[in-house]
Amino acid sequence: MSRPNFYAATGIDRATLKREDEAFIQDLISDSRTRFVPVLQERNLIQSGREPKAVFVSGMMARALTGSGAELIFLGIVEEQAHFAIDVGGLDLPLEQMGEFVDLRQVGPLLFHRDGSLLAYARGMTYWHRRHKFCGVCGTPTKVVKAGHERQCTNPECKAQHFPRTDPAVIMLVTHGDQALLGRGRHFPAGMHSTLAGFVEPGESLEDAVAREVFEEVAVRVKDVRYHSSQPWPFPASIMLGYRAEAQSTEYEVNPDELESARWFTRAELKDAQASRGTTGFFLPRKDSIARRLIEDWLDQD
Ligand SMILES: [Zn+2]
Repeated sequence: MSRPNFYAATGIDRATLKREDEAFIQDLISDSRTRFVPVLQERNLIQSGREPKAVFVSGMMARALTGSGAELIFLGIVEEQAHFAIDVGGLDLPLEQMGEFVDLRQVGPLLFHRDGSLLAYARGMTYWHRRHKFCGVCGTPTKVVKAGHERQCTNPECKAQHFPRTDPAVIMLVTHGDQALLGRGRHFPAGMHSTLAGFVEPGESLEDAVAREVFEEVAVRVKDVRYHSSQPWPFPASIMLGYRAEAQSTEYEVNPDELESARWFTRAELKDAQASRGTTGFFLPRKDSIARRLIEDWLDQD
């Protein structure tokens, strides 16, 4: 549990106390070392190839970006370089010369960990901004404040503040002795099985959400619900809270509205799957997922 999950933003100083300091933010925007993270719809700019790389914009193109009037979202400082996210939808700039806009999840695990975190963070922020141009209370346009970490209603009678959202979801590995219960969602690639998961509801504790989701999906009662680790998952706006839970019995019944199938796997079967890389027709979730991490940490405990 000492190793951060993929997309966890290690080494990024968010400088939260400086976001309201407009002079500080303006200095960073005009600093030639500053890098910009362009996002087009839900896609990030990547230099593809055998070793894909995140594309950060600086220099001439950065001046074109900052001069465009588009909203800049301050992400933070990494090794003395400030980073801003920018939604480039609607801007007429030749960014495609620098790379290709792709879904981060296609290449995420191949990127340098911190670059993956910055791109995910930028994607989550721009997504939220695009959906909060108007006040949810009175319908008036909102404006950016705090360097992109808040939107405020421009109606003087309202002035409602809107903050970027992160929706908690629980994800849990359910075990019973030497077996783990994995399921298949309808949209999963053929052969893939993963841990169960679901969104936390208002007024619910995380532990209760774990127990409820497991019961809803496979009609299993759990005990010993224990926190493992978390993973930012801004695709579009979640944080995955990883848990372990022990089933009270091995009997289960799949809810067809929630899952295509589920079954118990022994440690030996899962280790085979890990080693065979899917050649047995069964494979584990992607390497950058917390689901994979929950399973592998449990296998390593043996
Ligand atoms: Zn309002």
